[in-house]
Amino acid sequence: MRIIKLCVFGLMTTSLATLAVALDLPPPIWSTQPDVNGFEKIENQRLDAAQRSIDKIVAAKGPRTIDNTLRNYDDAVWQINAALYFSALMEAVHPDAAFRDRATAMTRKASAVQTALALNRSVYQALAAVPLAQAEPATQYYMRRQLLEFRLAGVDKDDATRARLKTLNDELTEEQSAFDRNINDGEKSVEVREASELAGLPQDYLDNHKADKDGVIHITTSYPDYVPVMNFAVSGALRRRLFVAFNTRAFPQNRDVLMKMLRTRYDIASILGYQSWADYNAADKMIGSGAKIGEFIQVVDSAVRPGAEREFQMLLAEKKKTDAKATAIGLEERSYYQEQVRRSSFNFDSQSVRPYFPYERVRQGILDTAATLFHVTFRQEKGVPAWDPSVETWQVLDADKVIGRFYLDMHPRAGKFSHAEMVPVLDGVRGKRLPEAALLCNFPQPTAQDPGLMEYGDVQVFFHEFGHLMHMILGGRQPWAGISGISMEFDFVEAPSQMLEEWIQSPQVLASFARDYRSGAPIPAELVLRMNRASAFGRANWVAQQNGYSAISYDIYDTKPEGVDLDVTADRDMRKYTPFTPPEGTHMYASFGHLSGYSSAYYTYLWDKVIAEDFFGQFDSKNLLAGDTPLRYRRTVLEPGGSVSANDLVKNFLGRPQSTEALKRWVGAEFDTATR
Ligand SMILES: [Zn+2]
Repeated sequence: MRIIKLCVFGLMTTSLATLAVALDLPPPIWSTQPDVNGFEKIENQRLDAAQRSIDKIVAAKGPRTIDNTLRNYDDAVWQINAALYFSALMEAVHPDAAFRDRATAMTRKASAVQTALALNRSVYQALAAVPLAQAEPATQYYMRRQLLEFRLAGVDKDDATRARLKTLNDELTEEQSAFDRNINDGEKSVEVREASELAGLPQDYLDNHKADKDGVIHITTSYPDYVPVMNFAVSGALRRRLFVAFNTRAFPQNRDVLMKMLRTRYDIASILGYQSWADYNAADKMIGSGAKIGEFIQVVDSAVRPGAEREFQMLLAEKKKTDAKATAIGLEERSYYQEQVRRSSFNFDSQSVRPYFPYERVRQGILDTAATLFHVTFRQEKGVPAWDPSVETWQVLDADKVIGRFYLDMHPRAGKFSHAEMVPVLDGVRGKRLPEAALLCNFPQPTAQDPGLMEYGDVQVFFHEFGHLMHMILGGRQPWAGISGISMEFDFVEAPSQMLEEWIQSPQVLASFARDYRSGAPIPAELVLRMNRASAFGRANWVAQQNGYSAISYDIYDTKPEGVDLDVTADRDMRKYTPFTPPEGTHMYASFGHLSGYSSAYYTYLWDKVIAEDFFGQFDSKNLLAGDTPLRYRRTVLEPGGSVSANDLVKNFLGRPQSTEALKRWVGAEFDTATR
């Protein structure tokens, strides 16, 4: 490993390209087609290797050095992460429920190893004794953060306290797994007995939802079933039934699991000297403290409230066309009336763009756009086995050198994770290991009869997750696994993904791939402009709703669990921060998966939305791929991974800290444009 010292960060990352040596790409993760025993063998080998590295740290004689201490520590981090990533992936995607159960057990085991390392005082003391004056800045920064993380894990506490923390963390892992699994397994369905109840839904939806032999049509809570009903079904009764089914998934099981999780987390925070889990959890984030989360929620509220009210009045006027006495709009009605206003006031029917978004074209278009934007190329590895035949394996190349790999698992299956996410598969380490990641999505599956037409929102989600993917891969050439890719302050990681979402607004970008699947005609620029105006409508209320979710996530973790009533908090925050009324009988928190992984940090999405809009404003709006901004963005924001603080990444790219001005413009764009 060559260590270079350069004081200017941009120079250092720029010169990496010339330093990079071609690494051998290991076989794809499913090439051995492991059964569950094979999977556990791979996992146990990783955990054993981690233990050997930890043993070497403790056994090292003589003065502490980067080589005899930090290098072994980081090897252990890589192995444990690899084990955790793989078991989490299997929990989310493996078709066999028994395999998923064993993967859950493996996640528990690997998390216990991770927790034990985080509480290993010998390792902490060894790391703290490594002299760093001569080390490169990324190494110094990594060490500072690791030592902070050790203290946040309680490593400086006495033996009994550390043992208690370990027990609590093991319990937390178990509670999180249970929460997530209950949601994945919690799919519900509603029955439709009169086909007329599906009025308003597109023809391909009707074709895919035929009545069974008893004359019953089953509509599930999976996204491809759920979203079109909420947007298009004329029947308010159907929308309400499905909304209630969707928002009672994993209820009541997850009410109890979540309450246990609140108690466990509160106990951990208290032991470590924090007032609340929210405060403790913010200590290693960009935001810094729980109180700042509360402040941020208020700042966002005042930024979007006037726009949210203005949009609400338009929705209400729309509703009054068929219900003259209406004074309120339920949460379950928001998407439907929003769609109606888009048609009536913005002359846009979101069905009109679906023919331009067949899945295969969109996938190729997003790959091509990302290749141009990030100055990379993609190469598919054909005939590679994966956990499901539909999964594709791709390599990422930079100047003809392979720099990473990703897997696309893009369509729904029974038992599969039901949302959309990027999951890391392997951490990259400069000169040593290549990064790998997977996208898990639930987009319509193309078939011989059906090209898998995507909604506008689906395409946006695809861009979003691809933003995470590129961050993971391009940030994968740092000197250490612990600062590779998205291993950084947790409340920055949604900024690059939300920034890439905005690419869907560009007529130039869309014209390059969005073609009518029947005629091959490219999407007209005029339609894209109308779509942009129409899609801007509803943003203020979208932000308001997200802010409501942030408030739920913050409020339940900002206090003693004894004082929390989940139903009261969820209902109150939605009423307080949005103009909509939550319907009776819903318990959305039970399937609000982020309350497990993100805990009090759901604010992250809006925090990063503020940054993402500010970033996006730096690109040339007429030609997003023009000039030196794309490459400068790759170099200063994505490639550094977690080697500098995210507050510095933002300043390095913008030349100043982020501001909410771009967000304010973004939420009001439909009214701006209308008056032009
Ligand atoms: Zn994301």
